Amino acid sequence: MKQTTKTILIFIGSLVLVGAVLSFVNLDSKEKTDISTLARQIDQGSITSIVVRGTEMEATRSDGTKVTVSKESTESFSELMKNYGVDAEKLRDTQVTIEEQSGFAYWASVIIPTIIPFALVLVLMWFFFRQIQGQNNKAMMFGQSGARETKGNEKDKVTFKDVAGVKEAKEELSEVVEFLKNADKFTALGAKIPKGVLLMGTPGTGKTLLARAVAGEADVPFFHISGSEFVEMFVGVGASRVRDLFAKAKKSAPCIVFIDEIDAVGRQRGSGLGGSHDEREQTLNQILVEMDGFEPNSGVILMAATNRPDVLDPALLRPGRFDRRVVLDPPDLNDREQILKIHAKGKPLSKDVTLRQLAERTPGFSGADLMNLMNEAAILSARKSLKEIPMQLLLDSIEKVMLGPERKSHVMNEDERKVTAYHEAGHALVAHLLPHADPVQKVSIISRGRAAGYTLKMPLEDRMSRTSEEYKEDIAVAMGGYAAEKFFFNDITTGATSDMKSATKIARSMVTQWGMSDKLGPRTYGEQEDMIFLGREIHENRDYSDDKAVVIDQEIDALISDGLKLAKKIITENKDAMDRICAKLLETETLERQQFVDAVGLPPANPKNKIS
Ligand code: ADP
Ligand code: MG
Ligand code: ZN
Repeated sequence: MKQTTKTILIFIGSLVLVGAVLSFVNLDSKEKTDISTLARQIDQGSITSIVVRGTEMEATRSDGTKVTVSKESTESFSELMKNYGVDAEKLRDTQVTIEEQSGFAYWASVIIPTIIPFALVLVLMWFFFRQIQGQNNKAMMFGQSGARETKGNEKDKVTFKDVAGVKEAKEELSEVVEFLKNADKFTALGAKIPKGVLLMGTPGTGKTLLARAVAGEADVPFFHISGSEFVEMFVGVGASRVRDLFAKAKKSAPCIVFIDEIDAVGRQRGSGLGGSHDEREQTLNQILVEMDGFEPNSGVILMAATNRPDVLDPALLRPGRFDRRVVLDPPDLNDREQILKIHAKGKPLSKDVTLRQLAERTPGFSGADLMNLMNEAAILSARKSLKEIPMQLLLDSIEKVMLGPERKSHVMNEDERKVTAYHEAGHALVAHLLPHADPVQKVSIISRGRAAGYTLKMPLEDRMSRTSEEYKEDIAVAMGGYAAEKFFFNDITTGATSDMKSATKIARSMVTQWGMSDKLGPRTYGEQEDMIFLGREIHENRDYSDDKAVVIDQEIDALISDGLKLAKKIITENKDAMDRICAKLLETETLERQQFVDAVGLPPANPKNKIS
């Protein structure tokens, strides 16, 4: 909108300028007078000649001076003189010349004043339209797809080399690349080229990146549109955009059409809420129609990405549509190292940097997190005017990516610091003394994001599944902060809120989703469905009786109170260790893994967590 305001200002400014110039030009150097004065002077015989040009009369006096008089264009000179009662005798002595105005000048004088306002309005409208179009093409061309086309020969072309890990996905997709490159080879053998490839994976695993890499490898045009772009203010736009997109694609085959975040339009039909529900359905129907409409070997391959394959409409996944499904797994240790290597390109690293160690420290990070990590470290180093990125800043960035930036400016008073220290020491000590917990990497009472302090524990290896015993310990660790506050201060602060939330969430999932409660048995309770616009699980399909609901609550309560009991036990039995950790924390604010273990004075209960 800023842009529009500027344009309007410029426009008004130039109007004022033009007006000023015109009025300046109009300032005639000639003397002017009115008709009655002229009439009187003619009567007095002081006018020798008059030249009439359109609405202007130029009279020459007997002393040679000239004077101009304006008249109406409709009234002829002679009529005018008659009306003013000029003596005909005197008029005859005056030499009157009627000069024909040149056609153009006459018409211009008549027409210009009438068309100028129109012209101004037109110009103004043109300005506005251009503005609107510049800002978003959609308002003026809402039927068009708005898909961005990327040609393969761009400088920032992405290929498989730029995507680390996701080996299976790359293998699957190199087949697609083959299809695009030499379709004939396949059609000669009667093979049908796949129409649709669906990329599935958690956010940040590189779905978008991989789709671009396929286009880059195959060196074909790539039409990129996001699912949410189909659905706009106006009903029917989505469907017409889909038509337009496919029409464009067919013209430039072989090519790839990529619909990112397809769950925005591809959700299961009939489960919608609110007004845009119909619109989404129409759009989805149109996608299905188009997918069925193009020939299998036309060279158009539709790719789509989603992190919610579970909500997609089954019709999309039917054979003949998105029949290839490619899963992108979260990166494991080796993948993480490779991804870090890719994003370290162009970033000078210090000699002490080992990407392997960074990869070890970042289980659970997605590709996007790792990219973010490298970038944060580069920014930090630049702000410190360093020539190279040191390992320490990379390690610091891990926490920044996980927890948000440190808030060193937040000054805590002595009491607050003490409570925070005991709270965090509670989490850390419980984790340290439980047989399955992850090792404590760091304890700190520096605020980060919204938390007053934090305890960082990180698994040593990537794990696919976890046991109920481990989850129970997680609950105990989460309650460690609460237990410590309660035991040492006999009161609790709001700092424990998010801990209680996460403990409750784990307990609820254990009971209702993972079948870890003996009383409730091996089944799930409640199907979670998303609220379409918020994308959050707030609407639960209740598929169990009220009696079961009571049992669920009891089981959740039991899990949490068991966790709390366990945490309390550890803290009360190791009061001295708690005091030692807190003293150290209040002194240095942050304890690294080794410092923490030294302060506790006890070996970790999980033998795997020993520092070698
Ligand atoms: P998604 O679409 O799955 O949410 P993106 O493809 O948008 O994730 O990934 C975001 C960024 O993270 C990419 O631009 C890339 O820089 C980085 N990234 C993610 N996965 C990888 C990977 N496997 N290899 C290299 N970079 C990756
Ligand atoms: Mg994406
Ligand atoms: Zn806490």
